Amino acid sequence: MDTKITIIGAGVVGLAIAVKLSENTDSIFLIERNKLFGQETSSRNSEVIHAGIYYPQGSLKAKLCVAGKKKLYSFCDQYEVPYSQCGKLIVATSGEEVEMLSAIKKRAFNNGVDDLIFLNQEEIKKYEPNIFALAALYSPSTGIIESHSYMKQLETLAVNNGVELAYGNEVTALNKIDNGYKIHIKEPDGSAYSFTSEKVINSAGLEADLISAMLGLQNEALRIQFCKGQYFRVNPPKNKLVSRLVYPVPNPNLTGLGIHVTTDLSKGVKLGPDATYLDENIYDYKVDHTRLDDFYISAKRFLPFIEKEDLSPEMAGLRPKIQKKGEKVKDFYIQEESKNGLPGFINLIGIESPGLTASLAIAEYVKNLL
Ligand SMILES: Cc1cc2nc3c(=O)[nH]c(=O)nc-3n(C[C@H](O)[C@H](O)[C@H](O)COP(=O)(O)OP(=O)(O)OC[C@H]3O[C@@H](n4cnc5c(N)ncnc54)[C@H](O)[C@@H]3O)c2cc1C
Repeated sequence: MDTKITIIGAGVVGLAIAVKLSENTDSIFLIERNKLFGQETSSRNSEVIHAGIYYPQGSLKAKLCVAGKKKLYSFCDQYEVPYSQCGKLIVATSGEEVEMLSAIKKRAFNNGVDDLIFLNQEEIKKYEPNIFALAALYSPSTGIIESHSYMKQLETLAVNNGVELAYGNEVTALNKIDNGYKIHIKEPDGSAYSFTSEKVINSAGLEADLISAMLGLQNEALRIQFCKGQYFRVNPPKNKLVSRLVYPVPNPNLTGLGIHVTTDLSKGVKLGPDATYLDENIYDYKVDHTRLDDFYISAKRFLPFIEKEDLSPEMAGLRPKIQKKGEKVKDFYIQEESKNGLPGFINLIGIESPGLTASLAIAEYVKNLL
């Protein structure tokens, strides 16, 4: 075999896996079709370190988010990755939503998030004097991270541990062979080559279902549907009127977490993301200007100072959803595929939010699967 382990995809998850596995394994290839790491979903997200509040109890999303959050804060401290544990408010703007806060607190508690605090209207003003809410939950363990610096640090550690990076290399086919896999690659100039690997880890984000299908493993439950999340920027000076993350009470099927306020480390404030399923899986990162009214109406409920002219289109990301439109929330699919005749092949499919937060815990989980 040419190598022991091949990881497909240098997003935040593939990078974290590369670091973890290279701590005590040599001969690891990390293959990425783009010329740099993290050019897709890993650089088009809210950069929130999630607490782990909403996910169904016992799910991988819940467990790996809570474990990943702790690991991520320690990692940031150890390697001086910029972050802020700024906290977040989940705000209720109607009597019905106030009642839902208790259920959210209970679910969070069951997930191991035991630090949520109920705030009344007066207490909310101490945190965010300019927002409107009847009641809120405050999550002190939620934060924001500079995700590019985080990924750069992961890449540095992986290289220092001996991981070989093959950027600008696209996996075009996979074959099962005796004791491993043959991997076919296309290079930027169109030339092709192939090599063999004992184990393969599919961390290909938006195309993880297609990589899995290359080995004949495909079914409707694993089919990814792109779901766009768009953001509008809150222009100065209104961006100064809110200083931490503010979320509405989410809808029950958790397609997204509702249009919320995200701050970043350079004091930028944006609204989003929405959740719009695309009819086809195309890389459409355009922000639809006509969504402005919906963003305005959603945000106005808890940001009474917002006017339409305060908002400008900012950016969009694509969620690799295995939860089809109208379905209930689905868990991460992370499996070693021996039972499907593919020993040593690990699939990571549907790694949407909280994949950034959970990345270090996902890496450890994958190590244990191997
Ligand atoms: C709008 C939005 C907001 C989000 N907000 C948050 C948040 O605040 N907090 C949080 O924790 N999570 C958030 N997430 C989720 C988080 O961004 C993802 O879970 C995470 O980035 C997934 O990382 P990944 O490495 O699995 O995928 P990716 O970043 O997509 O990386 C996969 C890589 O595989 C490569 N690849 C694909 N096919 C091939 C091939 N054939 N050959 C070679 N390479 C290939 C791609 O080029 C890509 O670089 C958000 C996601 C979205 C869309």
